[in-house]
Amino acid sequence: MPQLTCDVVVLGGGGAGLATAARAGELGLSAVVLERADQLGGTTARAVGSVAAAAGPPDSPDLHARDIAALTGGDGVGHETLLHTFVRSAPGTLAWLRSLGIRFVGPVHDDGSSAHRLYNALPHAGIYVHVLEGRVRSTGGQVHTGFRAGRLLRDGGRVVGVEGRTRDGEQLVCRASRAVVLATGDFSGNDELKRQHLGTAYPPINPSNDGSGFALAASAGGVLRSAGRAGWAHELRFVAPAGRTLLRRVPPSRATSAVLAHLAGRAPRRVFGALVSALSTTYLAPSPSVQEHGAVLLSGGGRRVDWGAGDDHALVPGENYAIVLDRAATRTFETSGAFISTAPGIAYAGLSDYRRFRRDLWHRCATADEVAATIGAPAERVTDALAGRPGPFVLLGPARAVQILTDGGLDVDESLRVLTDRGLPVPGLYAVGAAGQSCLALPGHGNHLGWALTSGRLAAERIRAQEADRW
Ligand SMILES: Cc1cc2nc3c(=O)[nH]c(=O)nc-3n(C[C@H](O)[C@H](O)[C@H](O)COP(=O)(O)OP(=O)(O)OC[C@H]3O[C@@H](n4cnc5c(N)ncnc54)[C@H](O)[C@@H]3O)c2cc1C
Repeated sequence: MPQLTCDVVVLGGGGAGLATAARAGELGLSAVVLERADQLGGTTARAVGSVAAAAGPPDSPDLHARDIAALTGGDGVGHETLLHTFVRSAPGTLAWLRSLGIRFVGPVHDDGSSAHRLYNALPHAGIYVHVLEGRVRSTGGQVHTGFRAGRLLRDGGRVVGVEGRTRDGEQLVCRASRAVVLATGDFSGNDELKRQHLGTAYPPINPSNDGSGFALAASAGGVLRSAGRAGWAHELRFVAPAGRTLLRRVPPSRATSAVLAHLAGRAPRRVFGALVSALSTTYLAPSPSVQEHGAVLLSGGGRRVDWGAGDDHALVPGENYAIVLDRAATRTFETSGAFISTAPGIAYAGLSDYRRFRRDLWHRCATADEVAATIGAPAERVTDALAGRPGPFVLLGPARAVQILTDGGLDVDESLRVLTDRGLPVPGLYAVGAAGQSCLALPGHGNHLGWALTSGRLAAERIRAQEADRW
């Protein structure tokens, strides 16, 4: 049976896992990343790329922590210690990412922030995967994709490795002299865990995050905790484009990151704006505020749905929705600067951006009957729902309710060591990113990627400092 040996085995090759392995390599530790999917990246590769960090006065980590707490609307952040570990260390993570050649637009303002604190990676979140994978390899680390983990290897109470199968079905044992790090993402791809912790099971963006990392941890005594009501809710998203968009065609590399950063400061706003508008029409959610400007949300069956921010419980899993603008609403969106979706601080996508970048979602209908025919609903019902609203109509859709991420992960201490239900560290086992988020709620933009990359970096540093080489 083939065997790999190293200092640190990292299970999961998204942002958190790659940050762990890259930093471990920089600190002189040998790292092996075992990723279950055929490609690295996980949810990280599908993200926009914003990270939040209180990088200097007048901002401060305490202000950052207070803003996150306020965004939970009184539900509480769930885990004060991890929150403070995050906000204190996020500026160091930003500096580290910059030192690796990643360029950002920012700091920019975001709703709910009392300071400019959001940094958007250029060209998009794919740059984290590209640069960190490069760092893993350049520091001597290995990366294996298509790996199916079977079980954690134990020696006494200590976790000492992982056993599983390669993409060819061959059994592989990977032994770690210092630590095994679970970076297996959230449980958005596991219906049973979603029902148990959130009460609902909306479809995920990344089905690969099926909660298998939590089952492995449980076999060693680890415990999954959820942020409950304070956690991220499901939300309405336009379906993803069939091919790659203009922005996703920009290859993520240090060179493109640097060129775009240069353009961001100098190019006319409309040139740079065209590029980033492609971003905000691609993966972002339509804002419930469109209703305030006269837009109507129709279900696939043609019924009008009242849809509120942070409370999308009117939305049914699997249903196709459409946003419909009558003549007056279309004019408002064309002339007032009202937007359909936004990448905070970097782009606001209006109706014309959808017409240019998402022709697949854009439909013009002369009458309510045509709206009904486009969504396949009974004409009388749509006529009722749009009563008193004159055509022609612009219809944007389909959109679906999805669980883009879940807040909740293995209980960990400040060093990212996995804890048992009695609060004792499981020797040799760490968890980072969404997998190691415990019950910490992270509302607001930029905090999830911020946590993923920060916890990965910190775990490598703690392993270097705390875990003796056992061989
Ligand atoms: C559309 C979208 C946009 C977003 N934009 C932002 C943003 O701009 N800013 C922000 O802060 N957050 C954003 N987020 C959230 C953010 O992307 C995630 O919270 C973050 O990327 C999680 O990183 P991670 O490394 O913990 O998990 P992931 O990136 O999901 O990585 C986990 C990896 O583990 C692998 N894996 C799972 N199980 C196993 C197993 N048993 N064995 C081996 N490998 C396994 C998965 O395949 C995956 O590759 C966005 C999310 C979405 C969906």
